[in-house]
Amino acid sequence: MTDSVSERVADAAEQLQSDDSAVDLKDFTRRELRELVNFGLDEPEFRGDQLFKWLYCHLAEEFEEMTNLSKDLRAKLDGTARVSPLSFNGAHQSDDGTQKLTFRCEDDAVVESVFIPSRNRNTLCISSQVGCAMGCTFCYTAKMGLQRNLTAGEIVDQVVQARRLTAEHDGRLGNIVFMGMGEPLHNDDNVIRAIEILLDENGLNFSRRKVTVSTSGVVPAIERLGEETDVQLAISLNATTDETRSEIMPVNDRWGLDELIETLENYPLSNRERITFEYVLIKGLNDTLEDAQRIIELTANIPSKINLIPFNPHPKTPFETPSEETMEAFQKYLVDRNIGVYRRRTRGRDEMAACGQLGEPGDKKEPPHVQKKLEKFRSQQASKAVNP
Ligand code: SAH
Ligand code: SF4
Repeated sequence: MTDSVSERVADAAEQLQSDDSAVDLKDFTRRELRELVNFGLDEPEFRGDQLFKWLYCHLAEEFEEMTNLSKDLRAKLDGTARVSPLSFNGAHQSDDGTQKLTFRCEDDAVVESVFIPSRNRNTLCISSQVGCAMGCTFCYTAKMGLQRNLTAGEIVDQVVQARRLTAEHDGRLGNIVFMGMGEPLHNDDNVIRAIEILLDENGLNFSRRKVTVSTSGVVPAIERLGEETDVQLAISLNATTDETRSEIMPVNDRWGLDELIETLENYPLSNRERITFEYVLIKGLNDTLEDAQRIIELTANIPSKINLIPFNPHPKTPFETPSEETMEAFQKYLVDRNIGVYRRRTRGRDEMAACGQLGEPGDKKEPPHVQKKLEKFRSQQASKAVNP
């Protein structure tokens, strides 16, 4: 018998003994599941490994399927635990094959993931929160504000369900990117637990090189991610001076560029690994060659590559995409100076499934500090239009 378990396992064990609860099994790592069956159901720990295999190797949907567990155990689990915290709500397919998948949580919150097929390897972009609290002025999700964090189970179940739903695509679901709704490092406990489950070689077995966490720059949680995981890191840089970055990303007022860059310079990377800097190109805001030069200076001591993302327009911002020539000149400036730079192809625009287009903002208004910044930007744009 396991003699000491964490509080969350002890709580769940207690729930397993009552008849009116539904413990989400996907919310536990394999080690925790072993403890849970042992502590909560008095079963040997290896039953936890068996359960884990059913969930992640066979993608089981019901306890019925788990034929190497006794009938009694299956009946017991059926009354007190559940296999999936999400129910599939629907898919919206873009002309380019990208699919926005939507799921409903127990409390009716809606979670969105984006499946991006490609010839070599399919990618799933997953959400870590419902909405987001970070208030970036160019981002559609920001307009919802934060509704709540997703649990580790809700994060992992997006991957399991997407794998099941897209099984007809040949080529495995190989890449996972935390670039859907939410700021993953604002929900670091659950994101780190979800990563442990995704990487477990007795389950989904994702390679650590194929899982990427993208953050707007929550410095303490970046340090934690580096200490506790070895997945890939992407930073939404999006501006090259504190002034502009603070204008579009309020997080910059808390952790400015100096602090962010210093943290990244010390980030543990293994051989030949690089941090990705995402840079959303926004017309008239951050798209000059001086910005390109400053990107080079900021990233000079960080093994890195740059991912240029053309701004995806949506009804809720005043921003626009730069012209094709401007974006090409920006990219060429970096290429000519031997910087690893990629241009992200915009996928899924027609179904609001592209970056920064996830979420269904209601009537909620932006927080006051964001409103102020937006107003300032709009009036600057208007005066530029009058006096170009
Ligand atoms: N919150 C995390 C991850 C989700 S956002 C982060 O900010 O990194 C994923 C990416 O989409 C970020 O790089 C963000 O800068 C980008 N993005 C947000 N809104 C966008 C828009 N309207 N057009 C293009 N990219 C956008
Ligand atoms: Fe949140 Fe990322 Fe959107 Fe900023 S860009 S509001 S951090 S989801």
